[in-house]
Amino acid sequence: MSLERARARLAGSLSGEVHSGEPMSRHTTYRVGGPAALWVVADTIADLSLATDVLLEEDVSYTVVGKGSNLLVADAGYDGAVLVLGRDFKHHEIADGTLRAGAGTILAFLVQQTFHEGVAGMTWGVGIPGTLGGALAMNAGTREGWIGQIVESVTLFVPGSGLSLVKGAAIEWGYRTSGLVRRGIIVEGVLRVTEGDPLRIRAEMERNLRARKASQPLGLPSAGSVFVNPEGDSAGRLIEAAGCKGMRLGGAAVSTVHANFIVNDGGATAADIAGLIRKLQMTVRDTHGVELRPEIRFLGTF
Ligand SMILES: Cc1cc2nc3c(=O)[nH]c(=O)nc-3n(C[C@H](O)[C@H](O)[C@H](O)COP(=O)(O)OP(=O)(O)OC[C@H]3O[C@@H](n4cnc5c(N)ncnc54)[C@H](O)[C@@H]3O)c2cc1C
Repeated sequence: MSLERARARLAGSLSGEVHSGEPMSRHTTYRVGGPAALWVVADTIADLSLATDVLLEEDVSYTVVGKGSNLLVADAGYDGAVLVLGRDFKHHEIADGTLRAGAGTILAFLVQQTFHEGVAGMTWGVGIPGTLGGALAMNAGTREGWIGQIVESVTLFVPGSGLSLVKGAAIEWGYRTSGLVRRGIIVEGVLRVTEGDPLRIRAEMERNLRARKASQPLGLPSAGSVFVNPEGDSAGRLIEAAGCKGMRLGGAAVSTVHANFIVNDGGATAADIAGLIRKLQMTVRDTHGVELRPEIRFLGTF
């Protein structure tokens, strides 16, 4: 693996920025995480193509990151390249019952835009941080709805091959998972939307936002729900019933507002958060015989 050669080859050729040792704590909502060996912003499809070719040739592993709102990065960082979608992946257009947007566009911005244009179908997304790409990768959503339900198609960039259009119905949508991640890099999504009554859309958005504010610790760094809900139960309920609400490890704490959130309430490290996750898994296994499965994604070595 030659990180230095990869950096040198990309730095002179990409329109997006490339640098070494980018602190991932700047790019995750937990505000933790050590350096990414390489930080590569792809502004165009040509950038993506070149970056993935060079990284493959130089034997450097890579991962795509959106806004890091579902990501725990190790304190020692990541010894590969973090690819971020830049300029050309931040666009949107609402027309003929569809919302077409670049994967680097912020989901909350798209939700606002649909509201301004009197378009319904996106109110479930109010308050979910991150990019459209991250939402598609994770099949983001709430009890009110999730993105996979309204996907018309997704365009992927497949390294070594190029662009590929996948119909929404041909995508494996799971609970906070999609089959997209192993197929390629998500570059664009087309979502089905409908005409709606602006007053009703506004009321739904306000209701969803109010519910979020009342039930989530939004003032502290977190990555949202840590675990997916086990079939027929809720991870938060199990954690609370196991007596873990408020449990701490270093600067990480199980939120007293929502037990399925771990918050960084005072200089937590990634090791604190990962350790607390393991503690919760062990305790809930011992008390309830249930295996809690993380919803958040891990980057680096834990
Ligand atoms: C306060 C708070 C509340 C939250 N509430 C919710 C909620 O209600 N519902 C919910 O579903 N989630 C929720 N989340 C989690 C998170 O916001 C979502 O999972 C979000 O969709 C992640 O988007 P992101 O851009 O930050 O992705 P990241 O965290 O950067 O990445 C997440 C995963 O997606 C992959 N990925 C990102 N972009 C691409 C791409 N372009 N191509 C391929 N793979 C990609 C990454 O490799 C990684 O595996 C919450 C988080 C926070 C902090």
